[in-house]
Amino acid sequence: LSASVRRNGRFLSTAAEPIYRNPPPIVRNLIGGQFVESRSKEFIDIVNPATQEVVSKLPLTTDEEFRAAVHSAKSAFPKWRNTPITARQRVMFKLQELIRRDMVDKLALNITTEQGKTLRDAQGDVFRGLEVVEHACGMATLQMGEYVSNVSSGIDTYSIREPLGVCAGICPFNFPAMIPLWMFPMAVTCGNTFILKPSEKDPGAAMILAELALEAGLPDGVLNIVHGTNDIVNNICDDDDIRAISFVGSNTAGMHIYARAATKGKRVQSNMGAKNHAIVMPDASIDATLNSLIAAGFGAAGQRCMALSTVVFVGGSRPWEDELIKRAKALKVNAGTEAGTDLGPVISRQAKDRIYRLIQSGTESGARAVLDGRNIVVAGYEAGNFVGPTILADVTSDMECYKEEIFGPVLLCMQAESLEEAISIVNNNKYGNGASIFTSSGIAARKFQNDIEAGQVGINVPIPVPLPFFSFTGSKASFAGDLNFYGKAGVQFYTQIKTVTQQWKDLPVQGVSLAMPTSQ
Ligand code: NAD
Repeated sequence: LSASVRRNGRFLSTAAEPIYRNPPPIVRNLIGGQFVESRSKEFIDIVNPATQEVVSKLPLTTDEEFRAAVHSAKSAFPKWRNTPITARQRVMFKLQELIRRDMVDKLALNITTEQGKTLRDAQGDVFRGLEVVEHACGMATLQMGEYVSNVSSGIDTYSIREPLGVCAGICPFNFPAMIPLWMFPMAVTCGNTFILKPSEKDPGAAMILAELALEAGLPDGVLNIVHGTNDIVNNICDDDDIRAISFVGSNTAGMHIYARAATKGKRVQSNMGAKNHAIVMPDASIDATLNSLIAAGFGAAGQRCMALSTVVFVGGSRPWEDELIKRAKALKVNAGTEAGTDLGPVISRQAKDRIYRLIQSGTESGARAVLDGRNIVVAGYEAGNFVGPTILADVTSDMECYKEEIFGPVLLCMQAESLEEAISIVNNNKYGNGASIFTSSGIAARKFQNDIEAGQVGINVPIPVPLPFFSFTGSKASFAGDLNFYGKAGVQFYTQIKTVTQQWKDLPVQGVSLAMPTSQ
């Protein structure tokens, strides 16, 4: 504790090293309905990004424990898939109630402690996941098959959407509750069993959600949790008993998982990185647009896959810049637990260093740092991984800061002469997660909607993340697979179709025909 100071009863680091207070708790595996301590000898520190305090230690789940988790999921599957759909839904009805009960005091507080976002934003993280649980409560209707009678005389055909078996989910750090909730509630209510691998940076919310799922009545073995990084992910990709993988995270990991799991014949839905653009037309409502850009650019310290990280001003950005800077400067950077905070810290020192490096490379290649959030010091949290709101103007598409996903509170400003030019800038970017236009012209909006190559389109809406009755529909390099998360596509992803053709009629005595049967 030598490199720390004591303030308000807590130790705060003044140095780069993480601080250990007492022995931190060990995160457990969940196998067969039991939260069990791992036998692993290797651990990762879960660090509070505002203070550097070690919150807990995460084991690298051993191969043996991984196999036990898969075995438990496989053993639980036959009974669970035959559990009435109404009973499976009832677990979700109870789960949504329990998530509401623990949303603020347990889940949001844990997210802020491990991930850094503000308490209010953390509640939003939980709430957007909760909506998927609510959606799963209607699974009986969502999972319905189809029926055609008399496809031939006295013969009917119908299709049944059946669960796959054991499915797995691999999660990123930025939404510790929402993304696990995109995955296991849909999967298990369809009748599958599940192996969840939370982010190794902030597993706490997933662990609380698992406790709630058991409290809600999810039978032992239906949901299992393992921990680790690359090795455990490779185990998931290679395992013959796992039928499908849901992944959310970076492109490096996502494409690796997509390719590796495909060699084993698995289904994969892989939501990956983004560079979301806003096109601002000169006729846009100034006040509302500026507020949207600030909120979507700097909310969650820019660590949202649907953050608006690039603005293309049509007709020049200079008239907008001063006001944008003024509003960004007014944002309060502090620990997420402090009242009135707009932006918390970024997840790690490595993330902060990377953001700094990309800002530097932008200025070195000709961008103007009209607001520079580097070297910010937050009183009381001097060791936190803080980056203040940063705005780079005159950015061009050849710059590294434009080509790379920064994933920090950095807003890039570009210029275009016309809507056509702005659309072509956006479409030339490799990512296709989301894009928005701000305008009061229906003609411009309609052209944008039609021509833009992005999976999620906002019209005067900055973060157009669809609610769960639709699906999360990133495209281009932001998504690999063909069935998106949640909504109808989510149900299709977690089910396979069995088609049944039945005949119930008094058959007249007839000879044998070896010809291909045709409809009579
Ligand atoms: P990440 O890829 O580093 O980690 C995600 C998961 O993959 C973790 O569980 C990690 O253990 C595992 N992993 C990482 N590298 C791996 C490798 N080489 N081999 C095997 N497994 C590996 O992502 P992150 O930093 O936690 O999350 C941020 C990223 O997630 C950003 O790119 C962001 O855009 C993206 N994201 C996308 C969406 C979306 O819906 N498109 C949503 C949230 C986040």
